[in-house]
Amino acid sequence: MATGALSVAIVLLLTTCGQADKPARSDSRSAFAYDLAQSHPDQARQSGDNVQAAEADKADDIAKVIDEWMPPQPPGATERVVDRQRMVQHQIVDPPAGRIPVKNYSVIKAMRTVPRHVFVPADLRSRAYIDSPLPIGNGQTISQPYIVAYMTELLQLDPAAKVLEIGTGSGYQAAVLAQLTPNVYTIEIISPLAKTANKSLTEQGYKQVKTKQGDGYFGWEEHAPFDAIIVTAAAGHIPPPLWQQLKPGGRMVVPIGGAYEVQRLLVVEKTEEGKRRSKSVMAVRFVPLTRSTEK
Ligand code: SAH
Repeated sequence: MATGALSVAIVLLLTTCGQADKPARSDSRSAFAYDLAQSHPDQARQSGDNVQAAEADKADDIAKVIDEWMPPQPPGATERVVDRQRMVQHQIVDPPAGRIPVKNYSVIKAMRTVPRHVFVPADLRSRAYIDSPLPIGNGQTISQPYIVAYMTELLQLDPAAKVLEIGTGSGYQAAVLAQLTPNVYTIEIISPLAKTANKSLTEQGYKQVKTKQGDGYFGWEEHAPFDAIIVTAAAGHIPPPLWQQLKPGGRMVVPIGGAYEVQRLLVVEKTEEGKRRSKSVMAVRFVPLTRSTEK
C-alpha cells in the first residue's frame, strides 16, 4: 500500500477506534516501534529492526481490514436505545465508586450498539439493562454488562485481531467482540445454549461469528493461533491448549479460582519470546469451566 493511502487508513483507524491512547506496551522499545510504525511505516519496515518492521506490518494489516470491513449494524440496535445509553453511562463510563471506568471508545460504542435484550430469555427482557448478571437457563448466566465491557477492553482488540471466546452462553459477549473485529470464534459446551446463541447471533446479522459446541478447554486448534482469548467461565488453572493457541504478543483474559468462590480475573500475556506475564486485575464471580467428561 502506498504511504499516502496507509496514512489515511491509519487516521481512519484512529478515528474509527477512537483510541487516542496507544496500546499499553510492556517496554519502551516497542512503544517507540509502535509510534514509528504509525507515523513512518516505510521507514519502520526498512529499519532492519524486527520489532519496528512487525509493528509496520501490523498497521498495514489493520488498514486493510478497515478498507474492507465495517462493524455490523444489528437490527435490534434500534430498540431500547435509551436503556442502553443509560446502562453505558451509569454502569460503564461513569460507574459506581470502586469500579475502573471503561475508556476505550470502540468498546463503549459496541456496548451502545449490541441489543442485550435480544440475548436474554424472553421473560427477563425487561431486566436486560440492569447492573447485574441474569440467568440464561441450564444453570448458566449472562455476565453483568460492566464485566463484559471491562473484559473486552482488557483484550485490546484491533480490527485485524483474531479472538477466541470460551463459554458462548447467550452469545452476547461474542456479539460485543464482533463489533470490534470480524474474526470471532466462540465455543459453548452446553448444546441448547450453543443453539440458542447461534440463532440470536444469526438473527442479529453476526454471520461472521464462528460458533461451535464442544469443550473449550481444548481451544479451537484449526483456527489457532489467536491474538486474544477470553474465557467467560472460571477455571482452576490456565488450560494448556489455550496457552499454546495464543500468539506470541497475544493476551488472554481469564477468571481463575474455584467454583462459586470469589475468583481473580487475570490478564495473561504471552511475550514475543513465549514467556508468561500474568496480572490480577479484579475479584470476580463466574460459573465454573466444566469439562466434557462431567457432562
Ligand atoms: N459469555 C457468555 C456468558 C458465559 S457464562 C455470555 O455472554 O452470555 C459461562 C458459559 O461457559 C456457560 O454457558 C457455560 O456452559 C460455558 N462453559 C463452561 N465450561 C465450558 C467449557 N469447558 N467449554 C465451553 N463452554 C463452557
